[in-house]
Amino acid sequence: MLLAHLNRRLREREAASLQRRRRIAETPCAPHQRVAGEGGTRDMLAFCSNDYLGLANHPAVIEALADGARQWGAGSGASHLVSGHGRAHAALEEDLAALLAPCIPGCEALSFCTGYMANLALLTTLGDGDATLFADKLNHASLIDAGLLAEAKMWRYPHNRADLLEARLATCDTPVKLIVTDAVFSMDGDLAPLPELLALAERHDAWLVVDDAHGFGVLGEQGRGALAHFGLASERFIYMGTLGKAAGIGGAFVAAHPMVIDALVQMARSYIYTTAAPPALAHALRASIALIAGEEGTRRRGHLQQLIALLRAGLQAIIDRHPDLGWRLAESGTAIQPLIVGDNAAALALAAGLDARGLWVPAIRPPTVPANTARLRITLSAAHSDADVERLCAALEDLADQEDPT
Ligand SMILES: *Cc1c(COP(=O)(O)O)cnc(C)c1O
Repeated sequence: MLLAHLNRRLREREAASLQRRRRIAETPCAPHQRVAGEGGTRDMLAFCSNDYLGLANHPAVIEALADGARQWGAGSGASHLVSGHGRAHAALEEDLAALLAPCIPGCEALSFCTGYMANLALLTTLGDGDATLFADKLNHASLIDAGLLAEAKMWRYPHNRADLLEARLATCDTPVKLIVTDAVFSMDGDLAPLPELLALAERHDAWLVVDDAHGFGVLGEQGRGALAHFGLASERFIYMGTLGKAAGIGGAFVAAHPMVIDALVQMARSYIYTTAAPPALAHALRASIALIAGEEGTRRRGHLQQLIALLRAGLQAIIDRHPDLGWRLAESGTAIQPLIVGDNAAALALAAGLDARGLWVPAIRPPTVPANTARLRITLSAAHSDADVERLCAALEDLADQEDPT
């Protein structure tokens, strides 16, 4: 019965063009990768990773990981509350707390195995029966799942509509109120209006849970993230940063008031009932955080900003030459640069055309994004060169010419 049932569900997804497939990368995460395909392996130029600073394959980070393994062995052996919490984890948490302290005065940090688990921990622990969660409709799936698991009521507000949120906050009668938002939205690259949200939190005694998966390392002075980008500082921020994107390795952390951190250690099931990450990862992450916060990080962020400007100028020129195609650029100043095409089939055809030219850019379709906004989701990394971006623009220009011969 199970297999027949699964078969039916899988065929339904296939019929709706929703089936997914994994590609096997034969080389490390980098813009130029060898990828396994039907007729053997192919060299691809990829614009799809979240390795925004190019640290996933950075020699100093690789060396720190090897050094961490020599110093601390391979595994942690137990959960943090049993015996798996090592000096490397503690030192990483101190580094992260010091980095975020200008934005969250007096904060402490707690490290997690993944961002998904950190979000589960946050919303299930803070979102008890006395709380209401106010969550942006475009939040990441992990925040949505966490909200469903939490005892608290969840109200999802229309994307970035701080004005609509205010009315609900004013009439909310639970003692605890939590505003929950991505800082950088993953399919659009736009930012949450964090200054407005903080003002609302202060007016209505709410706390602000900020998921900065795509901002940590990339935005703000020293790569501190979205709070620093806006020049904000408040004890009301409960900040979640992930360490598998710009930090190039894996894991996540929460930086917040020490009482919030203690509550997570005492009560968060996705912190307590799981084996601590290998201490070598924490050791390597310290090297990666040092790069992010230092001169090399500043240089890499500068190069990334140049690439963003180059790509946007190139795409805008194509759009201006081919207005009939109806393509448009998303309002994004971040490393996530969607090219909105509209029609599902057109987005797929464009991704396929790029693929045939050795360029790897994913097409994103509804229901992941709203109807009629199918898009190419281009992500840039400091590991890209100007020539890489120019090659992408030239290929898109070529495809636009084919579509629109006028
Ligand atoms: C990637 C991502 C996560 C999950 O982080 P992982 O460490 O990959 O589990 C959470 N929130 C957002 C917005 C993300 O983009």
